Amino acid sequence: MKESWKYASRQYQPEDTVVSIGSVFIGSGEPVVIAGPCAVESAEQIVETALAVKEAGAHLLRGGAFKPRTSPYDFQGLGAKGLELLAQAREMTGLGIVTEVLDPADVPLVAEYADMLQIGSRNMYNYPLLRAVGRQDKPVLLKRGMSATLYEFLMSAEYILAEGNPNVVLCERGIRGFSDFTRNTLDLSIVPAVKQYSHLPIIVDPSHGTGRPEYIEPMSLAALAAGADGIMVEVHPRPHRALSDADQALTLTQFQEMMKKIRSFLEWRRSYGHSYLEHP
Ligand code: PEP
Ligand code: MN
Repeated sequence: MKESWKYASRQYQPEDTVVSIGSVFIGSGEPVVIAGPCAVESAEQIVETALAVKEAGAHLLRGGAFKPRTSPYDFQGLGAKGLELLAQAREMTGLGIVTEVLDPADVPLVAEYADMLQIGSRNMYNYPLLRAVGRQDKPVLLKRGMSATLYEFLMSAEYILAEGNPNVVLCERGIRGFSDFTRNTLDLSIVPAVKQYSHLPIIVDPSHGTGRPEYIEPMSLAALAAGADGIMVEVHPRPHRALSDADQALTLTQFQEMMKKIRSFLEWRRSYGHSYLEHP
């Protein structure tokens, strides 16, 4: 085994990693649903969303307080105030919180509030940030860089693991291609590939992957059919008024409807027993 390819590899650890976030287990065989707005905007917005997604069956709440925006003039997130609002939403719903950290200097602050730290696509190659989240205890959700190969993706996970944090969940969020009908190209084939070469869990984000609300349900079901350990979906009570990613958020009702379909798919899948999908 190459030295550069160690802790993240299936050879190093043949059994699947299961990451626990409180009473939620990612990688256990039962898919996990992470839902919430792109960004935390106000107490009302995050609490209303949290209550609705919890009721619909989500397991964890997402919401950005520190937002990586393409334009420096766009809404950058509420920062520390956003973290407090997320904590308030957790208090009211019991849902664990997943939120992004952008700056290595903010890792201690974000880790104080979050149950899982998200590393965004733009930061998958930010090695000082990867090392910083590797040196703290909270689980990490590592999103795939928008042009990252499987090897680069797994090596970024390796940075976190090598610092001593074994709780890494990967997230496919679409890669740059030439699609003129979706925001990105959701590369679902990386799901079985990750399962083949690594023991780390992998979830799929069809919201950034497609950028189109009407494609989120089919691609969520496809992700689960491919063996993903969960999905992460953007949900907003009033998508047209969202301060970021307004075009891709599901309404609370759309999310609720999608969750019904996901539940029936999972029931159908369970009826197949363990033989439904063997990892490559
Ligand atoms: C997000 O999930 O809020 C986000 C910014 O996504 P990505 O890093 O995949 O663009
Ligand atoms: Mn977003």
